[in-house]
Amino acid sequence: MKKHYDVVIIGAGVHGLATAYYLAKMGITNVAVFDKGYVGGGGSARSTAIIRANYLTVEAIPFFRESLLLYEQLSKEFKFNILFNQMGRLDLGHSESDIYNLNLRAEFNQALGVDSRIIKPEEIEKIEPRLDLRKGKHHPVLAALWHSPAGTVRHDAVVWGYARAASKLGVEIFPFTEVKGFIKSTSIIKGIDTDKGEVFADTVVNATAAWSSDVMSLIGVTLPIITYPLQAMVTEPLKPILSATISSPKLHAYAYQTDRGEIVMGGPVDPYPTYSQKSTLYMLEELATFVLELLPCLKDVNVLRQWTGLCDMTPDYAPIMGFVEEVDGLVLNCGWGTWGFKAAPISGKMIAQLIGNNKTPDLIKPFNLSRFKSGKLVNEKASATAAALH
Ligand SMILES: Cc1cc2nc3c(=O)[nH]c(=O)nc-3n(C[C@H](O)[C@H](O)[C@H](O)COP(=O)(O)OP(=O)(O)OC[C@H]3O[C@@H](n4cnc5c(N)ncnc54)[C@H](O)[C@@H]3O)c2cc1C
Repeated sequence: MKKHYDVVIIGAGVHGLATAYYLAKMGITNVAVFDKGYVGGGGSARSTAIIRANYLTVEAIPFFRESLLLYEQLSKEFKFNILFNQMGRLDLGHSESDIYNLNLRAEFNQALGVDSRIIKPEEIEKIEPRLDLRKGKHHPVLAALWHSPAGTVRHDAVVWGYARAASKLGVEIFPFTEVKGFIKSTSIIKGIDTDKGEVFADTVVNATAAWSSDVMSLIGVTLPIITYPLQAMVTEPLKPILSATISSPKLHAYAYQTDRGEIVMGGPVDPYPTYSQKSTLYMLEELATFVLELLPCLKDVNVLRQWTGLCDMTPDYAPIMGFVEEVDGLVLNCGWGTWGFKAAPISGKMIAQLIGNNKTPDLIKPFNLSRFKSGKLVNEKASATAAALH
């Protein structure tokens, strides 16, 4: 460890590493990333890594659109395959009010340059013939929002792609090094205190997701972030039967098939805040019930693994990015909840620009911390889980 870095990043998840990479690409290479565990071992290691941009708000749609465009180039940029499979995504509507919401999203998406449109069951069947499209069911599929550029990436390939590319440009990464405190003079940040000693820095970035409130409490800043567990599971591998990612906002369930043939299934966050990463039978049963409602063809398929990660949920289902008013030199890149993996390329790039130019880029201005004081909330209800917590 050097005594001083221009920028210190706390958290070697996808966001911390992407920030480090884009800083180094801008020529700011005296950068160190610290993680209390192994690289990418937080929420990033547990992500089902669905990438999409079909959000609802004028703040979130352009932001996620730009991230998706960066993802499309990432394998080439890293010279390392992140396995971006642009299989498309169906958000299903089961009622008139669902269809009203999906229509709203389609119109906002189209107006803001995101390819998404409403399709009827005849077209849904062509894309996903295994979906149960029978009429008269309790939750019939009446229409869907079809977002063709959406897809999935291999989460650890993205994390390691960023780590390797950043490291090649001179960034230093320190796993198993916990940040225990901050060095501060009046209201200016001077560095961090780790379990391996003090490190001075001009700028410190908090990219610790589920732990971001705890890390901020070390410096007396309160974040409006509560940590919830999020569970997912996969089945045994099958021959290819699904072609898109399928999501039902009403049933709070989604599913897709991986390149290895496993069916990945996920749902909403658990209904209580905790730091426990224990999976529950209750969630397995609930997820299986809802996925079987959509895909009864999976009824005899075995679940192979189930796991839990932690999510840093904000009250308006949108991230927090930018400077902290009370402390000079402190930058936040957190509040990524259940939706953060898809955002890492653009958030990393924007935070790097913010630090390099000492100015907040327009794209991330709406996501500042002070919105929780001013009341200018984003309220991104098309984030996964938003519907479940409402
Ligand atoms: C089951 C599940 C499914 C998901 N599916 C999707 C999806 O399909 N699409 C999507 O976009 N998003 C999804 N997400 C969300 C996404 O994975 C996260 O938002 C994203 O990975 C967060 O990345 P991060 O780098 O901010 O945080 P993390 O990867 O959690 O990294 C934070 C790091 O900070 C470190 N840290 C904490 N405290 C300290 C300290 N004091 N000192 C040093 N280091 C510290 C931790 O060890 C950790 O490695 C999912 C999440 C889960 C759990």
